Amino acid sequence: MRLIFTVLFTLLWVSVSSADITILVNKGPFASIEQGAVAEDQTNFLDADLTDDRACTECFAATELAQFLPKAIDIKKENIKFDASMKMPATGDVFILGSRKTNPLIESLKQTKNAKLENDQSYRICSYEDNGRIITIIEGADRQGTLYGVYEYLNRLGVNFIGLGEKGMVFPTKKTALPSDLAIVENPSYFTRGFWSWYDRKPDKIFFRWMARNKLNFWTTENQPARYLKKLAFKLTAGGHDIHKNYFNPLSEYPFNHPLYQGDEDKPDDPYTVGDNYQGDANNDGMLSYYEAHKEWFGFKFGKRTTYVRDWQGSSYCISNKDAGKEFARRLVEQFVSGDWQYVDVLNFWMLDGDYKQWCACEKCKALGSHTDQIFIAANEVLKQLKQARDAGKVNHRVEISVIAYAASIEPPTKPLPDGYDLENSSITFYPICRCYAHNMGDGSCTGTNQIYVNQLKGWTQGQGRYYKGTLFIGEYYNVSSIMTMPVVYMKSMSADIPWYYNIGARDFQYMHTPTKLWGTWTVNQHLMAKLLWNVKADATKILEDYFTNYYPTTSKTTRKFYEALEFASASIKAIKHSTLDYNLRCRFLKKTSLFPSGHLQYYETHPMLNDGPDVVEIIQAVELAQRHIDQSLLDCSDPIEQQRLLEDWERFDYGKKMYYFLYHMIRLEMFHRADDIVMAKHEFKLLDNYKRQLEQIVEYVDVFCEYKDAYNGFGATQCTKQFEEYEKLYGHE
Ligand SMILES: [Zn+2]
Ligand SMILES: [Zn+2]
Repeated sequence: MRLIFTVLFTLLWVSVSSADITILVNKGPFASIEQGAVAEDQTNFLDADLTDDRACTECFAATELAQFLPKAIDIKKENIKFDASMKMPATGDVFILGSRKTNPLIESLKQTKNAKLENDQSYRICSYEDNGRIITIIEGADRQGTLYGVYEYLNRLGVNFIGLGEKGMVFPTKKTALPSDLAIVENPSYFTRGFWSWYDRKPDKIFFRWMARNKLNFWTTENQPARYLKKLAFKLTAGGHDIHKNYFNPLSEYPFNHPLYQGDEDKPDDPYTVGDNYQGDANNDGMLSYYEAHKEWFGFKFGKRTTYVRDWQGSSYCISNKDAGKEFARRLVEQFVSGDWQYVDVLNFWMLDGDYKQWCACEKCKALGSHTDQIFIAANEVLKQLKQARDAGKVNHRVEISVIAYAASIEPPTKPLPDGYDLENSSITFYPICRCYAHNMGDGSCTGTNQIYVNQLKGWTQGQGRYYKGTLFIGEYYNVSSIMTMPVVYMKSMSADIPWYYNIGARDFQYMHTPTKLWGTWTVNQHLMAKLLWNVKADATKILEDYFTNYYPTTSKTTRKFYEALEFASASIKAIKHSTLDYNLRCRFLKKTSLFPSGHLQYYETHPMLNDGPDVVEIIQAVELAQRHIDQSLLDCSDPIEQQRLLEDWERFDYGKKMYYFLYHMIRLEMFHRADDIVMAKHEFKLLDNYKRQLEQIVEYVDVFCEYKDAYNGFGATQCTKQFEEYEKLYGHE
């Protein structure tokens, strides 16, 4: 009887304590908050009226809060109500969401007076008791900050979005009461945080939601659901090496009524001078091309002007020709006004790929200065015309032109930027493609690679006499093409580099080719990167401790050892699989050049004072150690969700392990080949062939980042298929 009474009493108490929660948010032009939350297709993110943009994102933020609150707080979902009246309800706990632009209650409360939020993404969270109920204010500087404030609030309650989808979420083991003493203000360290990708790729919304919930905000527009991504407060990007091919191809049709050409009279008047190079329809295809109208606009190569532009290769336009620069810029700005780039916030302003050979080689271009000096002249014209488009109300949001600092234009400028260069709406993105991960970026002992990049970076960011004083965007390479989503672990590297880049002035950060599914061991990289980009002062040790404790609750010790072994195994990834500035393994097979000329990668364990990275035998030992630790975790694991996470880790690790063994046997085969030891070379070939067959079976875990031509299976991903065929001819037969 007494027991029953106690149970009844407890039930009664619970129902009283979990009184209704009301979430107050502005629904803007939408019929309800629930509808506003999914109204991205009814929202115009391109016009100057931001009312609907703000309502869409903030209503979505409200539904996110309502969805996840019951995971942490003792309340039922049906007891959470939305209210768009902007008036305090008489009873119950209250959440006030929004910014000063959307929610008048925020301005009126004394708790939010003197708020200083530095960026649209900044937020203030405060909660207090008021007449026996709890008021929580989540104030964003704008809609971005409101959304991020909600996620921060959920994080503080123990709701964490660590990996992708349901199995990636971590919820508190015990439910608590609403906190009543929060006083948080946060501003982002990096303003842009995310990924740069291209190709026709279709990540699902699980990945995008994971990004938003981790305050990541940078993704591409091409073939993507732009409005959905705008709702999630993303900045969108486009551009790349194919700008010339797509928008200023010498062979494409001249868009004006050329005074000397018949049959184009319906086109707009030609704003350019005719010049001496008019050729008419020289190839008789019935249309006047850019090249036929103005040969002098295009690249000078091998003694003549060329039409050669194929995808990423060819010749840039003639930057010293002012009309060419105007037309190039006009074509690009057209994309922002009414073409492919209407949703683009940051344009990757790249020339064709590779070195100086892809640039116009005429004497006038050479006289302009270095290739970096030249690219600023090209960008300047785009920035000027963009400003005109903004002033005319044709583009209503900020567009940033991010000039590529890479290959021929990686060195800082040698002369002042063009007059009036718009630093407010531009940046440079520094791309250290061959950087080494055995060493942190600032590590002075990496003289063969990272120090070379550091010196270039210093030229861009330090010294009173430098010519560039604008914003620095970093383009990292955690999954550069050749890494092929192998199980590389960057715990130490990110912990040091992300604050290091920040300290030399970087405020924007992306990396190329993120995997968008089946992360396995990549989860730790994605999680740590997101946390550090938001707050470079965050304690990486604590983030990682929490990661292993919460994500692998029953095997945290052995799983951590697995990750640490894997991190050591993957430290030389650039040397063994891609390239550092002083070493590339792949191009040494079947050649006369020395196999191991750099400290970065030797066969036996060696420790030179400079450029020392894990060597081949050390890598294999670490892979074996990692195997033992994950095997132990799988034996000990007693949590079904953790088991799913570990199995995905195992799959990604297994792919990497087979890749390391494939390379190990290819190296040994090459060593026996060089020693003319046919017996041992044939023996190694058999082992190599075995790994080739195993790698061919791995498809799903390779094809996770983009439609890259070599990523069709694990063997393609070795990028050593040609070398394999050669070895097969030599040693593949009895
Ligand atoms: Zn030129
Ligand atoms: Zn190094």
